[in-house]
Amino acid sequence: MAVLAETGLDRIREKLEDGERLDFEDGLALMESDDLLLLGELADLARRQRGGSDDVFFVQNLYLNQTNVCRVKCKFCAFAVTQKQPGAYTYSPEQLVEDALRQRELTGFTEIHMVGGESPHVDFDYYVGIVRQLHEAMPDVHLKCFTASEIHHMTKLSGLSHEDVLRELQAAGLGSLPGGGAEIFADRVRRLIAPGKEHPDFWFHTHRTAHGLGIPTHCTMLYGHVETYEERVDHLLRLRELQDETGGFLAFIPLAFHPHNTVFERRGWTFTPGSDDLKLIAVSRLLLDNVPHVKAYWIMMGLPLAQVALHFGADDVQGTVVREEIFHAAGARTETEQKIDELVRVVKAAGRVPVQRDTLYNEIRRWE
Ligand code: SF4
Repeated sequence: MAVLAETGLDRIREKLEDGERLDFEDGLALMESDDLLLLGELADLARRQRGGSDDVFFVQNLYLNQTNVCRVKCKFCAFAVTQKQPGAYTYSPEQLVEDALRQRELTGFTEIHMVGGESPHVDFDYYVGIVRQLHEAMPDVHLKCFTASEIHHMTKLSGLSHEDVLRELQAAGLGSLPGGGAEIFADRVRRLIAPGKEHPDFWFHTHRTAHGLGIPTHCTMLYGHVETYEERVDHLLRLRELQDETGGFLAFIPLAFHPHNTVFERRGWTFTPGSDDLKLIAVSRLLLDNVPHVKAYWIMMGLPLAQVALHFGADDVQGTVVREEIFHAAGARTETEQKIDELVRVVKAAGRVPVQRDTLYNEIRRWE
């Protein structure tokens, strides 16, 4: 078995060195391999072959959630509540602006990342109003807002097409879309973990339409629950196909499933092992030969493992994610500065060059 597996990876190395594209069978062989160090080596080779340098990126950003009220009830979600449950909130555009301005004085973020539940208690004007007011208050801040599922929700609220919804948001100041709502595209998995969510075709339609309008987007995969290796590879290759067509994805972000406070916790599920997190980073870097960046999302995988992931094909550690710090402890200027320092320290310790970027990967500052 070991010899066979080794042969499969040798073939993949040859394909990489010849600049050949990897296929479904290659993806499966990579997923099935337990030779983690070899996976990392191949992924790093692929990253460098495609123009990657020692630069590792991060952005200074603020996380906002406009509402946690959601009608969808995905089984993996511990965030959503109904309007009547304790802790339900829906912030007005004014509240969000006030909050963001307060945070900005403390941290000087360049990006707002905002997603939320699909509340049936708001209308489309609410979403446009949020974007417009945030943009007017902070015109130099990039607004990365709303998953494809939320955009789809807005088409239901408004009766508009996906294109018209995106056009209105773009006119109000939307800069890009995050990648959420992708989960795993396979119908079997979706039925099990998110039966109330729209068909994945809408995810692709939304991103394709956004790219056509000049709105860049991100792409994700929520892994570590019921999906098979085949379904992971299928997911990645579907993303690659759209990227071939449009070139509109800025980065891929693998998201590890967290079972706490979900129905899966009651079934005794636990967190993904670090080996699986690293494997996902490596295989996605290898298969997604046309997506410029792969993020090691430290919020989910932890900073020490994100640091290791930089040797498995990742070239981005996401950002400072100001919101979580400040939301829980006011006056967090020092903490945020420490967080940048910490990201810089971690990247340097991995032998790489920290580069602060904006959302579109323009360089703001580098630490040689
Ligand atoms: S649509 Fe989003 S917020 Fe709503 S339940 Fe699913 S994951 Fe949670």
